[in-house]
Amino acid sequence: MASANVRPVDIILEKRSGGEHDPERLEAFLTGYLQGDVPDYQVAAWLMAVCWQGMTDRETTALTRILAASGDELDLGALRHTVDKHSTGGVGDKTSLVLAPLLAAAGATVAKMSGRALGHTGGTVDKLESIPGFRSTLDQDTFLRQAQEVGIVVAGQSKALAPADGLLYSLRDATGTVRSLPLIASSIMSKKLAGGARSIVLDVKVGSGAFMRTPSEARALAETMIAIGRQAGRNMRAVLSSMAQPLGMAVGNALEVREALACLRGEGPSDLLELCLVLAGQVLEATGLPTPEAQLRALVEGGQALERFHRWIAAQGGDLAAFERLELAPDRTPVRAREGGVLAEVDALSVGQAAFVLGAGRSRKGDPVDPGVGVTLHAKVGNAVGSGEVLATLYHRGGKGVEEAMRLMERALRVAESAPATPLILETALA
Ligand code: URA
Repeated sequence: MASANVRPVDIILEKRSGGEHDPERLEAFLTGYLQGDVPDYQVAAWLMAVCWQGMTDRETTALTRILAASGDELDLGALRHTVDKHSTGGVGDKTSLVLAPLLAAAGATVAKMSGRALGHTGGTVDKLESIPGFRSTLDQDTFLRQAQEVGIVVAGQSKALAPADGLLYSLRDATGTVRSLPLIASSIMSKKLAGGARSIVLDVKVGSGAFMRTPSEARALAETMIAIGRQAGRNMRAVLSSMAQPLGMAVGNALEVREALACLRGEGPSDLLELCLVLAGQVLEATGLPTPEAQLRALVEGGQALERFHRWIAAQGGDLAAFERLELAPDRTPVRAREGGVLAEVDALSVGQAAFVLGAGRSRKGDPVDPGVGVTLHAKVGNAVGSGEVLATLYHRGGKGVEEAMRLMERALRVAESAPATPLILETALA
């Protein structure tokens, strides 16, 4: 499809002046980049022009298709009710660990590629890999067989899926061009479309710990991604949820797996369960398996979701008994309230950064993460707290990162006379 007549500089100039690209010319430009004929600096200039001028829906859809078609596209056609969830990233977000078994218990098939931690946000694959033996690299046959037999498979993002997005993302990272709605939407949706699920629910986070800081920005991102998915024939739903404070009480890889397990045993934090029930309800309805919330709760309380979790982890080599015996990082430091009152703020970004400096995250792809470190919170916004009360515990190894984590936690936690209302679910009617 690449046309020899497209000069890269014309594409840059067209976008710089606010013009709309013809999809075929855009494809020729990006194909040239993938083939090494268009250099990084021209694509970087174009990316910056996109950041300033934006893209029309038609261009964003074309860009998504080009990225999705740059590598393998999974065919899940032989599986029933294939569903996927994407979260735009947050702090303490272990939703996939609870949602996947709940969806499988309700009759859907979850065949999912997940990411790794980057910066202050966690990644599902790193969380799962804190379970001894868990394998996140699977060949395509094993991936599809497990999806068929167990109803759940979660693998690390394959390099063969939307490879052009990987290239473009690295360039965006290095040139300050990550934060652009059409670039984020096309990047996320290219991987979702290549992943093959027929029904997709997007959990678009809003707040300090998220990409999108305001509900209107988040809504615009959700609507763009829904439109892209629909045009590709997928059943799309989206939920806006708050990332003003971390989800649940645990932030850190093994700490979050423990919390997800507690949730599946009916002992988890109510916000985590609530979000999973909402996301499950949305995507099950989209896939033609409408399931009332009471029925979803019963799948948790009756142990069916937990049983699916066990089967899933075992199928990927994970040893949950060994995980339960695993020591978390041995050193603990409490973070205390300086005064009594009501907890008015638990800033998600600062808590995520605290877990990061303790060693739970990575600043560059390929860096190792420490599964046993992190932060547990002992109170949520709105709880009454006494002076000197322990509001959080840092799990660390020999004090590594503690001084900075303490500073971040003191910035994160604010006690006042009253607290603002903090609804978890901001919108569900995005369909
Ligand atoms: N996640 C992605 O996959 N891509 C982006 O551009 C931003 C978040």
